[in-house]
Parts: sequence; structure tokens; C-alpha cells
Amino acid sequence: SLRAGIVGLPNVGKSTLFNAVVENGKAQAANFPFCTIEPNVGIVAVPDPQLQVLSYLSKSQRAVPASVEFVDIAGLVKGASQGEGLGNKFLSHIREVDSILQVVRCFEDNDIIHVNGKVDPKSDIDVINLELVFSDLDQIEKRMEKLKKSKAKDPQSKVKEEAERSALERIQRVLMDGKPARSVALSDLEKDAVKHLCLLTMKPVIYVANVAETDLADSGSNSHVQEVTKIASHLQSGVVTISAQVEAELTELPLEDRTEYLKSLGVEESGLGNLIRATYRLLGMRTYFTSGEKVMLMIAFIYKWSGPPDSSGPELVVGLGMTAPQAAGVIHSDFEKGFIRAETVAYDDFVAAGSLSAAREKGLLRSEGKDYIVQEGDVMLFRFNV
Ligand code: GDP
Repeated sequence: SLRAGIVGLPNVGKSTLFNAVVENGKAQAANFPFCTIEPNVGIVAVPDPQLQVLSYLSKSQRAVPASVEFVDIAGLVKGASQGEGLGNKFLSHIREVDSILQVVRCFEDNDIIHVNGKVDPKSDIDVINLELVFSDLDQIEKRMEKLKKSKAKDPQSKVKEEAERSALERIQRVLMDGKPARSVALSDLEKDAVKHLCLLTMKPVIYVANVAETDLADSGSNSHVQEVTKIASHLQSGVVTISAQVEAELTELPLEDRTEYLKSLGVEESGLGNLIRATYRLLGMRTYFTSGEKVMLMIAFIYKWSGPPDSSGPELVVGLGMTAPQAAGVIHSDFEKGFIRAETVAYDDFVAAGSLSAAREKGLLRSEGKDYIVQEGDVMLFRFNV
């Protein structure tokens, strides 16, 4: 599955948040499978209301959610791109993730030292962004040196090199302005040509505003959160507000006491579900469903990029998505090989009809062939030869 890296300055609440995500997954293991691969990597199930509804309507015994990997990337400090701290090592960890969650400190607490002396989201975001920008500039410079010497012979490689050069020149200019590479509009060919560089500022970002528990109910009126929201929209990024501390405390409470605690803070539910769902979308993942005899499965598939992502994640380029046989192949390779058709109904139609058989009677169940492109929210039953 795809990986989201949690980054941020020291003491902003990264580990608290990561551990809460981990612990929460463990506590609810029956519904939300979770496991840690390495100490700082966790696979987290995506809590999805549609999956719950479908599995209830189908009387499934089990609902199996899709998952996302979270990575706790500690240690990013000012000067990292110059090798400060364990700088380059951490930047290389960021290179390996597919998207970035930057935790921004929006809580005041005199007992917890802020590396720059005061809570200042703009400065925090700038510091991290600059490190990523410097690292990308460095990489682009090295790459351009190489490209200067390279003389591709066959026409196809020539075209690709030309595309890479042109893209890198434009990205370089934008980076010099302190803006992320993802703000440059690239053609599909250019995107493909620069992909191998894994530029850090090309990755989609969500800012996680970590607020004090007393601010959770009315976080919109917190001036720090307002500032983060403003910056995020300039940087084509999303914002999720959360209190890492509250999430950590929730994991310590027995399940039956959690609702009460949340109520006392003036909120209805834990923010983790929201954060995980936002991350899932940011990674470009969308969902279709399929069912076995007793299970309802939520399957993630990836939308293709069609330009700089907005806060809701990348969009599907029509014609490039996943086909019905490929979707069947996710379940089992035999399903793809012997694919005949996929009986398909949109989520809303399924729910309106109340069951698959009712949907069939009402003519809402469509028979889709080999060329069908899977749509978000499709419920699919695969027919195949063995
Ligand atoms: P990291 O360095 O970014 O991983 O930060 P940690 O998660 O280790 O948190 C640093 C300190 O801040 C710890 O003592 C946490 O308990 C505290 N902390 C984290 N989130 C919150 C919060 O929302 N409110 C308050 N008051 N303290 C927090």
C-alpha cells in the first residue's frame, strides 16, 4: 500500500500522533487491522462509513477495509539539507513516501519547548518547506549537470531528455521563489521524465494542525489554525485539525468511556478517522467494493494524476483508470485471466435499493465488460471462467 510520512519540527506532537494512530488500530483490531512493520511504520485500516453501510445491508459477517501506511519521520530540523542533525538521512526517508503529513504546532504550552521559542505556524511551515526546497534544488542541479553531458542517440530518449530538461528548468525557477515543485503544471510526458528524481516538493501535503484540547470544539477560531489554513491553500495543500494529546488519551481509555470524554470536550468523534481518510484521498486512492459470500471488501485503487493535486487529492484522467478485469485481478489473478463481466452498481443505487438483489430487480445492476473503467464507489461482482 501507499505510504504517508509524518514530518514536522521537534516537539510539535509527531510521535504522540503516530502512537495514537498505532494504539487506536490495536485497540480496535477486530474492525481495524493494524500492524507495525518497523518501529516507525504502521499499516492502518481506513475507517470507511460506506463499507459499514454496505456490509450491514448485505448481512456480511466481516467488513474488510483498505489500508494506508504511516511512517513517523522524526528529526527534521533547520539545516537538514545542509546535513545538520541527521539531515540527509531524514530527507531520504521522505523521498520514499508517497505523501507528506506535516504536523504543525498550534497548541501553547510553556512546559514544552518550541525549537524557535514560540508557537508560530508560518515560520514552522517555512522552515520545513525550505529544507525540502533546498534538497530538491540540490538534486536538480546535479541532474542538470548530468543531462548536459548526456547525448541520447535514439529519438525516443532524445524526446524524453528534452522533456526532462524543460521541466527541470521550470521547476528550478519556481523552487528559487520558495514554492513547491507541485505548483508547476507539467505535461504527462514531463511528469514521467522527472518522476525518477522523487522530488520532495512534488509530493502532496496535508498540514495537520495540532491544537490544544480546549480548542478542539471551536478550532476554526484559533488564530494559529486560521494561519495554517491560509498557507495551505496557497500551497495547494489540505488541512486537518486534530489534538494529538486527546487522541493519545483516548487510546488509554476503555472504549465505553471514550464517547463521554469526547463529549466533555464538545466534539462527537475522534479526529483520527478523519485524518486517515484525508490521507487516503491525498494519496490518490479511491474505493470500489466487492463481496464474497460472507465478507464485504473495500478495495483501494489509484486515480491517475491530472495536474497539481488540490486538497481533495488528484483527479482521474478519463481513459487511464483501472479496468474491470484489472479490478478483478486485485482479488485473484484467475479472476482477471478468466474475466467475463462485472455486475456493477453504484454505491448510491445499492443503498437506495437496499440490497443487491433489489438493485438487480430494479435494473440498477449493470453488466460491464472488459473495457469498463472502474468508478469511485462501484460495488462489483466479478463473473469469470476458471
Ligand atoms: P515530536 O518531537 O514532534 O515527535 O513531539 P512529541 O509527540 O514527542 O511531543 C512533544 C511533547 O509535546 C510531548 O511532551 C507531548 O506530550 C506534548 N504534546 C503533543 N501534542 C500535544 C498537545 O496537543 N497539547 C499539549 N499540551 N502537549 C502536546
